[in-house]
Amino acid sequence: MPRVLMLRDQEPRSQVEELGVDQLPDRSVSVDIDYSDLNYKDALAVTGKGKIVRDYPFVPGIDFAGTVRESHSDRYAPGDKVILTGWGVGERHWGGFAETMNVDAEWLVPCPEALSPRDSMLLGTAGLTAMLSVIRLEQAGLAAGSKVLVTGATGGVGSWAVQMLAQLDYEVHAVTGKADQHAWLKELGASEIVDRSELDGDTRPLEKGLWDGAVDTVGGKVLASVLARMTYQGRVAAVGLAGGTDLPTTVMPFILRGVALLGVDSVMVPFEQRQAAWQRLAALPRDLFTRMHVEEVGLGQAATQAEAMLKGKTRGRVLINPH
Ligand code: NDP
Repeated sequence: MPRVLMLRDQEPRSQVEELGVDQLPDRSVSVDIDYSDLNYKDALAVTGKGKIVRDYPFVPGIDFAGTVRESHSDRYAPGDKVILTGWGVGERHWGGFAETMNVDAEWLVPCPEALSPRDSMLLGTAGLTAMLSVIRLEQAGLAAGSKVLVTGATGGVGSWAVQMLAQLDYEVHAVTGKADQHAWLKELGASEIVDRSELDGDTRPLEKGLWDGAVDTVGGKVLASVLARMTYQGRVAAVGLAGGTDLPTTVMPFILRGVALLGVDSVMVPFEQRQAAWQRLAALPRDLFTRMHVEEVGLGQAATQAEAMLKGKTRGRVLINPH
C-alpha cells in the first residue's frame, strides 16, 4: 500500500494517502522511490499558485530516484537504480512524492554508479539544470577563468551553478536577495556577492559590461539588467522565472555587443544529453555535496516547504523522503 502526497482541487489541497498498487498509473516500470525533492515547479504545483496541475486527483513531484521493483521493459530489470526528471512527470503524469510510482521506461535514466539515490536527488532537476546551463555556456565558447554571474544564487539551480562553475575555475559572482547568506555563497565558491537590489530595477539598454557569462534563474527585470551588463559577445543561459516571465529589454545587447541568450530546458532534453550531463554530475567532487545546504522532510511537510520556497525563504535543496 504505497503512501503518496495527493493533491485535490479543493480544501485540503494536499494530504498523505495510502493507495492500492492497482490505483497507480498503468505504465511499464514500477519504481520504489528512495528520494524525491522540492523544485520551484513542485512548489507551484503543491500550493496551486501556478497552473502546473490541471487534472485531479494528482500526485506531484517532478523528479525522483529509486530502485526498479517490477519492469515490463527490456531496458530495466528489478533492482536497477534509476533517476527520473522531467517529461511532464509531476505536471501531467503522476510524480515522485510517493513511496512507489509507475512510469514509462523512456523517462528513466540509469543512476550512475558513483551516485546514491540520495545524492542524485540532492542534485535532482536543479543540479541537472545547472549542469545543462554550464554545458550550454561551454558550447557557446565561454572560456575558463572568465567572470560568470549566477542569479537566484541561494536557490536549488543557483547554488549548484555557483559550485559547478567555481569548480571549473570560472570567477563566479553570485546575486542574492538574502543578506544573511553571503558567507555560505562564498563557501560554495562565489568570489563576489551582488545584492539583488542592484539588478531588479529599471535598466538602460546597455550598461558597463561586467560579466562574460551568466546563469539566470530569475527572469524579468533581473535578466534584462544582466543582458545590459554583459561584456562583448557575452553568453547568458536563461533558466528560470522566479522573478517573472516578462523580459523588458531591447535588441541593443544582441546587435551592439553580440550577446547570446541561450535557452535551457531540462524537461524535454533528449536522453543522450541527459545521460551525458548525469555522467558529469557523477564525477563532481564529494565536497560539493557536503557543502550543499539540505533540508530533509517527509511527504507530510512538503506543503509547508512549498509555501516557504515561493516566499524565497528556502536555500539550497529540500529533499523529500517518502518513508
Ligand atoms: P528555488 O526557489 O530553489 O530558487 C529560486 C531563487 O531565486 C531563490 O532562492 C531566490 O534566490 C531567487 N528568487 C526568489 N524569488 C525571487 C524574486 N521574486 N525575484 C528575484 N529573485 C527571486 O527554485 P529552483 O532553483 O528550483 O528554480 C529556479 C528557477 O528555475 C525557477 O523559476 C524554476 O522554475 C526554474 N527552473 C527551470 C528549469 C528548466 O528546465 N529551465 C529546471 C529547474 C528550474 P536569492 O534569495 O539568492 O536571490
